[in-house]
Amino acid sequence: MSESAAADPGSRNAKSLPGIDYETFLSCVHCGLCTASCPTYKETLDENDSPRGRIYLMRAVADQRVSLTQAIQHHLELCLDCRACETACPSGVEYGKLIEPFRNRQFEVPRDFFHRQILWKLFPDARRLERALIPARWASRLGMMWLIRATGLWKLLPAKWGRMVTLLPPLRAVPPLPGRLPAEGTRRATVALFVGCVANAMFRHVHWATARVLQANGCDVVIPPDQACCGAIDFHSGRDEPARDLADRNLAALDRSDVDAIVVNVAGCGAMMKEYGQHWPDDRQPARVAFASKVRDVHEFLDELGWEAELGELAIRATYHDACHLAHAQGIRDAPRRLLEQIPGLRLVPLDESDTCCGAAGTYNLVQTEMADRLAARKLRNILRTGARTVVSANAGCTLQILRESRLQGTRLDVVHPMELLDRSIAAASR
Ligand code: SF4
Ligand code: SF4
Repeated sequence: MSESAAADPGSRNAKSLPGIDYETFLSCVHCGLCTASCPTYKETLDENDSPRGRIYLMRAVADQRVSLTQAIQHHLELCLDCRACETACPSGVEYGKLIEPFRNRQFEVPRDFFHRQILWKLFPDARRLERALIPARWASRLGMMWLIRATGLWKLLPAKWGRMVTLLPPLRAVPPLPGRLPAEGTRRATVALFVGCVANAMFRHVHWATARVLQANGCDVVIPPDQACCGAIDFHSGRDEPARDLADRNLAALDRSDVDAIVVNVAGCGAMMKEYGQHWPDDRQPARVAFASKVRDVHEFLDELGWEAELGELAIRATYHDACHLAHAQGIRDAPRRLLEQIPGLRLVPLDESDTCCGAAGTYNLVQTEMADRLAARKLRNILRTGARTVVSANAGCTLQILRESRLQGTRLDVVHPMELLDRSIAAASR
């Protein structure tokens, strides 16, 4: 330890805070330019619920000026990890590199039934989740899910179960994707499609649409069957090792020499996979860095590749919601809009606060329910003002959250992935 570090209690302690570079605290100049972009600050107007306030709190704990009290923990738990503050910050403060390791390593890992059996065991396992959804699928077909939601019966269930029931989308029976789908016309690229866990169990039709769009644009699509959950659920709830093991399973399954890119259509998974090289400094890190460099969000990939497929007319007024993990974590805003604006007849109307979090934020809407509901209501108000009844979202969690809010408020919205609209437009061109 250097003399100056030894003389500085903050700096000395920071070295013992695993995963946090103390310099990142120092890069915040307390200007406050991030606060207006922070969804939780916009709701509470409490500086402790702002990025600047949270950085201050974490640094105070690191410096041992305060201990990690329940009140401080609450302000840090209320953070959505949406990274809107990173987009807004002119000093380039990498807030995610503070809040994620801080919460993962300073907070006690929860051990309740919900975390052990649902979040960590059920959600990351697509096959298990699909089996667990069979009763819900039948209930949905018989109209019982509608009845449970419409009559408010879900409120009689234990809180988290009730929320999960209201979050369920219409569950369609969609066959699994095969191991390989060939390019249409001349092959321009070969990609591995990441299908994940919750998305594969609930939104497999989006994976099919994505694969068809890629094929129509000259891509061979391989779908390795032994791929796993991206690890975000475990990582964001403080379980480093299971998250690392899932990452390494994905390296083994998806990092093939014959693929040009690993394509992801769920913003949260894509953001996690692009960061595989940052989280676990062991001898596998170089392989994870190389893997991460091949990960592409599907919009980013198609935008770079150049669109080729013929598009037919879709007479739709739609609005686009920026998923936080696409806009803020991956910096992708224009590519999805550019792709959608090619569709003849589609009118894309701007959405106020399009990049303000809808409150989904991974599993946030199951654990921080009050703030999640406030942000969902705010998002729906903005959507309804556009006059559009088709909402385009490139993240499964946002889709679930916006659908839930619209159903609870009695409004009818079609919430779709950009790939679904592009797939429909390609189909329309061939009719
Ligand atoms: S995080 Fe950035 S924008 Fe926010 S107070 Fe610090 S320096 Fe300013
Ligand atoms: S990550 Fe989002 S919720 Fe958290 S401080 Fe930044 S802007 Fe606010």
